[in-house]
Amino acid sequence: MADIDPAKLGARAETMIKALAPISAEPNRLVRLFLSPEHRRAADLVTQWMCEAGLAVTEDALGTLRGRIGEGPRLLIGSHLDSVADGGNYDGPLGVIAGILAAAHFGGRPPVPIDVLAFGDEEGSRFPSTLSSSAACAGVFEMETLRLADRNGMTFADALAAYGKNTGDIPKAAYKAGEAAAYVELHIEQGPLLEAEKQPLGVVTGIVGQSRVRVTVTGEAGHAGTVPMTLRRDALAGAAAMIMMVERIAKANAAASMVATVGRIEALPGATNIIPGTATFTVDLRAMSDKLRHTTVATIQHEARGIAKARNLAVAFEPFHDAEAAPCDVSLQDRLAAAIGDFGGRALRMPSGAGHDAQMMARLCPSAMMFVRCRAGISHNPAEYCAPADMGMAVAALIRFIERFKL
Ligand SMILES: [Zn+2]
Repeated sequence: MADIDPAKLGARAETMIKALAPISAEPNRLVRLFLSPEHRRAADLVTQWMCEAGLAVTEDALGTLRGRIGEGPRLLIGSHLDSVADGGNYDGPLGVIAGILAAAHFGGRPPVPIDVLAFGDEEGSRFPSTLSSSAACAGVFEMETLRLADRNGMTFADALAAYGKNTGDIPKAAYKAGEAAAYVELHIEQGPLLEAEKQPLGVVTGIVGQSRVRVTVTGEAGHAGTVPMTLRRDALAGAAAMIMMVERIAKANAAASMVATVGRIEALPGATNIIPGTATFTVDLRAMSDKLRHTTVATIQHEARGIAKARNLAVAFEPFHDAEAAPCDVSLQDRLAAAIGDFGGRALRMPSGAGHDAQMMARLCPSAMMFVRCRAGISHNPAEYCAPADMGMAVAALIRFIERFKL
């Protein structure tokens, strides 16, 4: 077996990232959507790499590539090939490339059977669905997804057919019980923590759960000049007080990795000289503990009612998204951390505030993730960057993890 050479692995990873980068629907920015011609071209290139690494490649009903070596229960390694519009080159491909480089390292004789997976629908940039390809592998694909349409009105089902797929084959994409021993995903951090801690690699403790709620505050529209301040029922001023309350509550729970965001707000009638009669805003709340997240949503609603009452306003809540947290397997976390330690890293333990295929695969088998430092924490942006040295260390640690992996 060849020695593990992080510098060489990093250089190869960078070459492969650069080869995938120009595969885009637009010449000067990265747009690689699920089931698009660019998805096809990226998958063809990755297929070629998988074959060169000694993997036998198949493609499932959702277009997920499966590069396989060895017989019996296996270790799954993967990530995604799709991008957001105007995305970066590392988000997704790095995890696929790492799996291929690790498989190549073992020269066709890995210590455990391996499947390298390249998913196509992680970002949810084409259809209002996410993680549909990993859901199919995990056996939890929801058939209603097929009816969703993209912005051109093309349905998920029609896009699959145009990609040469048969929706009747979707159940066959699922791994059978006992076939998948574990799933491991390498991904760029997409945040600033590793850089702040001067560590190249981290181990993910879990993917946070998410709640999204639409809040509508109703007061009374009125003349901006004639209604005295004491007699107003200003819905937007009430919403502003509620937004500050949301921020205060999230900050108070920062130790529990809670984050809350009000990312959209609308005031009606929306004129300079009219007191807003209605204000609608969204709350996106994420935390590692589902229990804490649910009680916090209840607290926010309780406090918002108090604010509304004091201001003679009405408030209504409409939850529109609830995703459970997906804790990463503790034993896999420890083994990833040990492998990182072998190459001199401290393996910072951190939750993932973003969704990943690993959260879907966690429904199939024990799953874990390694995060790789990215410059300034920038992601979903063309400026996204990972240093070859960091990528090389990540692939090296993945190889060491596989060497010691016991089924
Ligand atoms: Zn990603």
